[in-house]
Amino acid sequence: MAVLNVARMGHPVLRQIAAPVPLDVFRSRAFQQFCDDLLESMLEHDGTGLAAPQVHEQLRVVVFVIEDGDPMFLVNPVITPLSDELRSGYEGCLSIPNLRGKVERYMHIRVDARGRDGKPCVFEAHGWPARVVQHECDHLDGVLFIDRADPKSLAFLPEYRRFGPPVALPKLPDDEDVDDSNSDDPEIDGGDEDES
Ligand code: ZN
Repeated sequence: MAVLNVARMGHPVLRQIAAPVPLDVFRSRAFQQFCDDLLESMLEHDGTGLAAPQVHEQLRVVVFVIEDGDPMFLVNPVITPLSDELRSGYEGCLSIPNLRGKVERYMHIRVDARGRDGKPCVFEAHGWPARVVQHECDHLDGVLFIDRADPKSLAFLPEYRRFGPPVALPKLPDDEDVDDSNSDDPEIDGGDEDES
């Protein structure tokens, strides 16, 4: 396995549309090796998720981990919102180190994808996992969280930690599924002090 370099904002690779993975590629050793490397890179950089274009590979592959669960790979994912409900939450990105911004995401989505083994992977996600999936899948279309962020909400990480979020988040009802919006850890695919 290998730790891959993460492209930072300004690198053109982050602004391209990634190509679908053909079905006959799933079994190839090179593809499986890439999936291993993507996961290792995410863990090494202390990210919650990582998308292939972030490591200079124009393929529609993302990996993420929700809490202490197993890593989940999504290949060729398609997201369908299951309601119009949007929720604001702060996000960070390994490709934009040390920046935080508030982004509205669909609260409830369906994901149609394949796993790294090529088998169909269909599920619904709600709240924080839905946010992570939307953030990572945006990378496959050349979209960064900063494109969707409220400009007044942007903050460098040290200032974010020192002064708190510049733009308040809406008060939420008690609901475990929506704890992303008031989480102490707003990172999606990363952003530690160590990164810069
Ligand atoms: Zn990101």
